[in-house]
Amino acid sequence: MAEQGVAQVWRRIRSIYNIQGNKCETCETYYFPPRPVCPTCRRKGKLEMYQFKGLGAIYSYAIVRQAPDDFKRQIPYVIAQVELDEGTRLTAQIVNVDPENVEIGMRVRSCFRKIKEFGPGGVIVYGYKFEPTMKVTGHEE
Ligand code: ZN
Repeated sequence: MAEQGVAQVWRRIRSIYNIQGNKCETCETYYFPPRPVCPTCRRKGKLEMYQFKGLGAIYSYAIVRQAPDDFKRQIPYVIAQVELDEGTRLTAQIVNVDPENVEIGMRVRSCFRKIKEFGPGGVIVYGYKFEPTMKVTGHEE
């Protein structure tokens, strides 16, 4: 029972790491995270696994200036809704850019970063984050 739980967690982590979702072949809609049933087509839907390319644009964002202890070292940081080129949105941290230079519509690509480490020498969880596809040059001061 416990082992089954661990396997499920790892399956979930793998799906997040790879930005794996699915695509309904019937209505050509992409989903992330993967859905068990297409909400539009229901039983007529034909869902296939789909590996997202990890390219998209910032749809909306917020600069986080207060965070729980685990994330304090990173503040301020940017959490954005990224609209993937396939047309679905997901929430992710935006890295490798000064928060002040983040803009709606900015092109981003997924990159993998360590998100959390559990204890010294413990389990490290990796996940997707996004970074600008072009180098962003800040304003001169
Ligand atoms: Zn569908």
